[in-house]
Amino acid sequence: MTQDIDNDKRGRKKFSPASLVPAPMGPELMKKDDKLQSLTRAYVTAFSIIAAISIFGHVVTAHITSRQRDNANVTFRITNLRSLVDEVASQASTFRATGNSFDDSLLGSDINELQQKFIEAEASGNDDIDRIFHDSRYLISKSLKIFVQRANDVGRYERTGHPDQATASLKALTDQQRILGLNLDQALRQYRTHVIGEIDRAYSLQLYGVLIILLTLLLEMTFIFRPLVKNLAEYHRSILHLALTDMLTGINNRRAFMQLARIGLAYYKRHKTPFALVIMDLDHFKAVNDTYGHKVGDLVLQHYTSLMKKTLRANDTLGRIGGEEFAIFLPQTSPEEALAVIERFRKCVASTPCPYKDADGMPQNLSYSSSFGIVAVTQGTWALDELIVKADEQLYKAKDGGRNCAIMTKV
Ligand code: GH3
Ligand code: MG
Ligand code: MG
Repeated sequence: MTQDIDNDKRGRKKFSPASLVPAPMGPELMKKDDKLQSLTRAYVTAFSIIAAISIFGHVVTAHITSRQRDNANVTFRITNLRSLVDEVASQASTFRATGNSFDDSLLGSDINELQQKFIEAEASGNDDIDRIFHDSRYLISKSLKIFVQRANDVGRYERTGHPDQATASLKALTDQQRILGLNLDQALRQYRTHVIGEIDRAYSLQLYGVLIILLTLLLEMTFIFRPLVKNLAEYHRSILHLALTDMLTGINNRRAFMQLARIGLAYYKRHKTPFALVIMDLDHFKAVNDTYGHKVGDLVLQHYTSLMKKTLRANDTLGRIGGEEFAIFLPQTSPEEALAVIERFRKCVASTPCPYKDADGMPQNLSYSSSFGIVAVTQGTWALDELIVKADEQLYKAKDGGRNCAIMTKV
């Protein structure tokens, strides 16, 4: 609910409670409900897409990490084997050259370490290592076994005093070292190219995932959030409208009228401009219902409201506060002006019959009247309830005084 405060011709601030939210009525609310439901469904779908891609992204990240770990592990083991192979070949050559037992034992421990590392690598359960060892292009496993055998041959022939065989075995060992070294290098290079390609593809997948999430969020913002928020705002306005409007006459209901009257009263407290509060009641309305039926009674209430809207000023606040009881708040109005405005309206009601159709469908006119209780405030501090009681008292006097009249009290 809002309150418009403009300046009037004389530069004074003018009070004008804005008409209450002009929003669609009940059936419209149901349509909105449907739209809200489909927007909510779309929101849930978008949310599920984002959740699924996030989970997928997590799986891809885990895969990347695992492949990086594999890569480091395989590279370490193969490089280690590669340097042990060189170590064994070099030590075999030294032992052949010196023939002393110290170099013999060094060769033995180098061969042992190579075998040990080879067994460890094979037993590591790493599929990549397994594949490298048994790849038919490199035959690493087989080559390594031959290499170890040659190294043992060099040691054995040297130890048992067969220098020619030892030299021949050393030559065979060096050849095998070259082949094995080349194969290990190549197998490792090939493996790393393969793993890095795999990791790159996973990174691309991750990037696509992020892009899809961003796109989904963008679409969600544009086609779900914005309309959702807009719909909720409209929904809220409609509900507010239903809560504050009298459905039969379309004017403020009691709750809305009271709120607006309180705003008017606050304005009076600040600016000390006079105002009037009017309570009015249709005369002998029960008889209208009893004689012409409830439907005609409703027509009269609507007719009365339309006359009220035509006769009163735009600044005046109207409300239906009971069955056939209405109220008006006249802001910035002197007692004389208030009485004149109400008199004009009273006469208008009394002289303008309500058109309706009788049981035979024939157009008819129904004359009716209403009585008014006015409280005109020019000074003092008042609570709204006190003023309503005072206006009501004047209304009773008007009824007692024969109806179709307005009684005013000034405070
Ligand atoms: P008085 O001049 O003393 O006010 O007499 P009255 O007959 O108008 O007053 P009373 O309180 O006896 O009757 C009010 C009637 O207003 C009774 C009720 O059925 C009727 N009424 C209240 N609300 C509605 C409505 O929304 N539509 C119709 N058709 N009648 C209504
Ligand atoms: Mg009445
Ligand atoms: Mg009444």
